[in-house]
Amino acid sequence: MRDLTLKCWAHAVLLVVLLLISLRPALAQEALRLATLEPSVNREALEAEKAAGRHKLGVLLDRPGKESIQLIRVDPEVVRKSTNRLSVLLPGGRAVEFKLRNYKGHESDEVGSRAEAALKYTPADYWFGDASSDVKDGHFNAANFIFLARRGDSLRGRVVVEGKLYVLEDVGNGQHGLMQVDMAAAPPCLVLENEPAVQEHATKAVASKSISKAKPSISVLLVSTRKTNTMEPSAMIVLRDELEWFNEMTNQGDGVSLKLTVAHMTASNAADSIFHHNDKILLDFTDAETEATKEVARLRKQHAADVVIVGAYWVDKKEVTYDEAEKDNAFYVFNIKSPEYFLHGFGHLMGINHVWKPGGPEYVPPYQFGFISPTYEGKRYASIGYDPKDCTGNCEYIYRWSDPGVTYLGVRFGDDHSHEKRRLNERAVVISNFY
Ligand SMILES: [Zn+2]
Repeated sequence: MRDLTLKCWAHAVLLVVLLLISLRPALAQEALRLATLEPSVNREALEAEKAAGRHKLGVLLDRPGKESIQLIRVDPEVVRKSTNRLSVLLPGGRAVEFKLRNYKGHESDEVGSRAEAALKYTPADYWFGDASSDVKDGHFNAANFIFLARRGDSLRGRVVVEGKLYVLEDVGNGQHGLMQVDMAAAPPCLVLENEPAVQEHATKAVASKSISKAKPSISVLLVSTRKTNTMEPSAMIVLRDELEWFNEMTNQGDGVSLKLTVAHMTASNAADSIFHHNDKILLDFTDAETEATKEVARLRKQHAADVVIVGAYWVDKKEVTYDEAEKDNAFYVFNIKSPEYFLHGFGHLMGINHVWKPGGPEYVPPYQFGFISPTYEGKRYASIGYDPKDCTGNCEYIYRWSDPGVTYLGVRFGDDHSHEKRRLNERAVVISNFY
């Protein structure tokens, strides 16, 4: 009897040991590889392929700047919830490893049902992660991270390593391309001033609103033009990915509290051409000058959208918008050839300015500027609101809003003229109450 009990116990222990051994690979998962590098091809050869009919290469070749492109072969299956660690080979062969911070499957995306039939849009699965950090445990590593959007076998995304930005796009023929973006070659911003009457109204609005503890949600109407709805990827796909990225970047538990939500998506007939570009597109929407933009104004009211974002092609600026927009001019023209500047550009609409200069005009409130640090161990660090095209040489662009109460790598990341988090939180309350 006793022998039998012992035998049973021995079996049970053996089973547990076997079970633990079989589980071990799942517990300590190897980092999965996002892609393998294809043999390098120079830009001229890719231009020739595009001219010969491989139009999808345009998504990288038509961007501002003339950086080289590394073709890669991705494994789209690694973009899933169960992937905890992801390894990425950069051009040149250096491997960087990222760990999952947030995964969002498209089942949870209700927005697809709000799209119109004419709209070219497919919802995506999103994988967002960062590299292990020298900064305190659990804090987002704003200098090393990855953001991926998966639609079937097609990926879009961006990788930031030591402040350097790489974009990833589907270039057809089963290949994707990875390209470093030269931030110094960024197009300029076009930020229109508010009319004095609007400005007065704005100051009153800020004073009368109290800051609520809940996360303010700014609802947006996403609009494509005739030109951008039919592009590949379509404007709506690019805009939705950017919104998702914006939400990830502004909700990392570091003191910014706001979220962009989609009220509606529409394919408009608004003009977007070489004769009707930049601020002409913005003014067409702000003043509802044409039938197409009148229809957008109607949709904005119907869906109670605080802000209208238009994905346009004929824009040679990072964005075209108003500084510290109010309800009547809360319009943002998005350059779909330079999508990665949305985070910076939307800051302008919310009321962020590039940089404060000694002796410059007094602004109310004074802390509404981007941040550039003094030189620290041979380097300067800039915040999101600082113009990335001016962050050159020994300057590292950090994907973080300034806050004088925190230090980053030993540098106080903000000052009396730069507290972007506070500015954004205050303005988010105002903007989310437009409707
Ligand atoms: Zn700017």
